[in-house]
Amino acid sequence: MSKPSTGRFYISRRIIVGEWIWANLKCIVCNLEIKDYEKKIYCPYCGSPSHRDHILEWVKIKSFCPYCNHKLSVKDLSSGG
Ligand SMILES: [Zn+2]
Ligand SMILES: [Zn+2]
Repeated sequence: MSKPSTGRFYISRRIIVGEWIWANLKCIVCNLEIKDYEKKIYCPYCGSPSHRDHILEWVKIKSFCPYCNHKLSVKDLSSGG
């Protein structure tokens, strides 16, 4: 048995899902869209995306994630690569 009130929940959920699907990735350093062909790195702590070159430059100078402020090193970001 479905209640009509659950419809509201579904709508808001769809919007959230839609954002995840449709919103382009935005670099947390320069706040510009990250194109498919551009190299990106995700913060290992908050999962925020950024241009590879931008976050590496940022971390070299600041040593923390611009989004979650977690301590970061270049090694954290380039491990495995
Ligand atoms: Zn960027
Ligand atoms: Zn972060």
